[in-house]
Amino acid sequence: MSLIEIKNASVVYNEGADNQMDALLGASLEIENEEYVIIFGPSGCGKSTLLNVIAGLEKPTRGEVYINNENLDKMNADQLAKFHCVKIGMIFQAYNILPSLSVRDNIILPQMFLGANNRKARREKADELLDKVGILEQADKIPSELSGGQQQRIGIARALINDQPIILADEPVGNLDSKSAQNVMGILKGLNEEDKKTIIMVTHNPEYLDYAHRVFYMKDGKIEREVVNKKSEHHKEKKEVTPQEKEFEMLSRSFPGLSEAQLHLLMTPFKAKILAEYLTTPYDVEENQRLSEFMGKRILGKFDRAKLRMILDRPLEKGGVGLDERTAINFSLEVEKVIENAKLLQRDLSEIAMRLGLEENDLKVKLVVRHLIRSFIKYVDDSQKERMESLVRKRLSNEIDRETLKTALDLPFKEGGVGLDKRLVKKIVRELEVILLVKFGITENTR
Ligand code: ADP
Ligand code: MG
Repeated sequence: MSLIEIKNASVVYNEGADNQMDALLGASLEIENEEYVIIFGPSGCGKSTLLNVIAGLEKPTRGEVYINNENLDKMNADQLAKFHCVKIGMIFQAYNILPSLSVRDNIILPQMFLGANNRKARREKADELLDKVGILEQADKIPSELSGGQQQRIGIARALINDQPIILADEPVGNLDSKSAQNVMGILKGLNEEDKKTIIMVTHNPEYLDYAHRVFYMKDGKIEREVVNKKSEHHKEKKEVTPQEKEFEMLSRSFPGLSEAQLHLLMTPFKAKILAEYLTTPYDVEENQRLSEFMGKRILGKFDRAKLRMILDRPLEKGGVGLDERTAINFSLEVEKVIENAKLLQRDLSEIAMRLGLEENDLKVKLVVRHLIRSFIKYVDDSQKERMESLVRKRLSNEIDRETLKTALDLPFKEGGVGLDKRLVKKIVRELEVILLVKFGITENTR
């Protein structure tokens, strides 16, 4: 049996009442010893609820929870409290620290509940952990004298004080600046790899997904799908992934907001929304919604480019989007460029390629790279261009993912990369991923 097994667990608040809330709906999962698992999804989708169910802090309305073969449902309150204290270390976004206690005493606190160890041993243990997370020097201060990142490390040290084998972290870096966040993520990684802790982390930030062995994607109280990033020693992948599945996985990494069904059906309105948001983050909901709708029509070929262009600067009250003329023109140009390139990738260019003495695929790669250079970089030398082409070729055939592409574009030329500026890289990669997304199912009449 796995270390943690959740079977068909649901948590329903106010069941039967008008305000019934299905916070968790039939969740099933298994987590192995020493795995690092991330539960990922938008705010309100039930991540914390699921974590609390695993922690034994929330009793599921239906379903079962087994930890180490023990059914939590069969435990009485005392047994549950003891189980929680011994097995589970919890780290919260809000740190849950007591402001009036010293940093050290905040760490010692949970040990006191267990009645374990004498004072001196407790103190030594606390200092060892404070050292481990790099804040031993702050041991005698009160928490408010520490930075946010340091305060979160109090939370981590405290979650380790009873040598709990399972660490549950609910948005542990949600409140931290990116440097402190990296730091905390590094500590968690070390706890998993070196101290062999099983880690379950909740986040709504896709940046961190690569840290985990596996990611559970949640939406509307359900676990929608599971992605294996890398095999942990104890988790055997069930089957080989097909190239289609791999392509799907890579796209879903780039667009974590898309569910499996959405990606598979490649719903036009959704693609249109992504395209619209990509180009228009400054616009409001109403404008965005209309943009999505019209972009969908454009992708499906129901609008031609002139019609789209026209409707962009038509006033909102007349059914348009209400952009000013200049913005509308630029916007329309950007959209057409993405569509052009997406179509290009699908079009039969074999004849042209032959006349140019090129492989069809090489021609497509060259054209896309030319577009990317023209749009964003202006100038690169030939050897940089060659490397870019080779990378884009690999991305188009899914030999590499978005992150690998990003890293290689940014890496100095001397070290084998293209040596582009980080901000450019970001734009280029974003553009390429949008082109890849729009490429799917674009119709013939999208002229
Ligand atoms: P997440 O951690 O993904 O943001 P939560 O698990 O905290 O989401 O909550 C899932 C849903 O359940 C949310 O819509 C939330 O408002 C609701 N919810 C959470 N706790 C309660 C409660 N005690 N009573 C009613 N609804 C709740
Ligand atoms: Mg939450």
